[in-house]
Amino acid sequence: MKTDLIIIGSGPGGYNTACHAAKNGLNTVIFEDRQAGGTCLNRGCIPTKTLCHEADMIEAVAAMTGSRPETDLSKAMNRKEHVTGQLREGVETLMKSPGITFVKEHASFKDAHTVVAGGEEYTADNIIIATGSESKMPPIEGINEEGVVTSTELLNLEKMPNHLCIIGAGVIGMEFASVFKSFGSNVTVIEFLKECLPAIDSDIAKRMRKVMERRGIEFYMQSAVKSINRKGDKLTVCFDKKNKPQEVEADIVLVATGRKPNIDGLGLENTGINFDSKGIKVDDNMLTNIRGVYAIGDVNGRAMLAHAATAQGIRSVNHILKKSDNIRMEIMPAAVFTNPEVAGVGLTSDQCDAMGIEYNTRKGFYRSNGKALAMDESEGMVKLITDNNNKIIGCHAYGAHAADIIQEATVIMNFDGTTDNLRDIIHTHPTLEEILHDSTV
Ligand code: FAD
Repeated sequence: MKTDLIIIGSGPGGYNTACHAAKNGLNTVIFEDRQAGGTCLNRGCIPTKTLCHEADMIEAVAAMTGSRPETDLSKAMNRKEHVTGQLREGVETLMKSPGITFVKEHASFKDAHTVVAGGEEYTADNIIIATGSESKMPPIEGINEEGVVTSTELLNLEKMPNHLCIIGAGVIGMEFASVFKSFGSNVTVIEFLKECLPAIDSDIAKRMRKVMERRGIEFYMQSAVKSINRKGDKLTVCFDKKNKPQEVEADIVLVATGRKPNIDGLGLENTGINFDSKGIKVDDNMLTNIRGVYAIGDVNGRAMLAHAATAQGIRSVNHILKKSDNIRMEIMPAAVFTNPEVAGVGLTSDQCDAMGIEYNTRKGFYRSNGKALAMDESEGMVKLITDNNNKIIGCHAYGAHAADIIQEATVIMNFDGTTDNLRDIIHTHPTLEEILHDSTV
């Protein structure tokens, strides 16, 4: 079968790109070998955020009544299934739109412009690879022991762990640490680096970790896990902290040490496409070294975020259509849905220092914001980073709804706005966004 465009993978990269392509007149065939919606909908953003909401509800009840309600894990997991099921149906309906053929099969390249799926051959001048990523398991002795899990398995847990040990203090590790602490588990996080959340402004990351510590989460930073051993129904995680051997006993160990591009069985060896362990190499239009073949989302390793996959897909279709757009990939907001929430967009202080960029910082605090106090959410800070002309080049925050607050800075940055522009914008009172506004006064 010959078509205008082939897309492999129906995550937020693939399915949104299929819609954009079909709306612009490209007959599109999209392949999916698991469930419509990809990692984000089935094993990532949406199920985790459903559990984050359950955790927030528990914290709210605990704050109101002074006693922590017992978590009904199966009820929480059932609600997660209900939410993901509803959204999956939505994506499946979208994939029936005119101009889109959704094929539920594994696809692999026969050559750079021919894909084989379900025993049939499909050809197109343009192909977009959107196959996502999967958990990367480090070479630790005992990593295959029963009870040592990835985020996918943790999302299907049937029994609450009394003690959860998490290896890795990146986004996924920190979100699960926050959720399971609220659910009532004892949580220990072991991290190789000095600070958690390496992509986040280190000032914000440190403050946020301190709050997590006050919540009772135990952190071992600068620590290297050596082995995991099972004795009966317990796992012992052995690690070195500054060359001193230590141990933690746990019921479940979550390995959250990063993700790798999903390229196994894709037949890339038949195409000549350049790739390495970090992902498929692309230019700023998401084009690989092979004419007409693009790679978007997690599989190119540029920014492992759902909205990045979508934006990159739209860019690649626009390139196929020879249309320009104003999507600014460098202004990529990101959030961590812990309690407290963490979010950032643009350059961090650490990046400015490393790049030798002169900058100024302005800070606003939740404790002096009326809405934050009314919400009993006085912990938090918003940090604006500006260049010497007061242009906003970064915004980072932790605290309630930090992800929503930095979105306003994202809009302003897309228009190259300054702190003067931000100051002139009237803000609704009382709102958390006033913290951002106040940082400019
Ligand atoms: P995916 O969503 O991974 O989709 C790729 C699809 O392609 C999969 O369904 C796969 O089965 C299919 N596929 C692969 N190979 C083939 C093949 N050969 N043939 C046919 N189909 C194939 N991001 C955020 O922005 N916000 C969050 O809050 C967030 N939370 C997360 C929480 C967790 C626990 C995890 C694991 C990730 C989270 N992410 C979050 C990251 C987000 O899920 C990914 O960035 C996003 O899903 C990437 O989209 P994608 O379209 O590139 O790939």
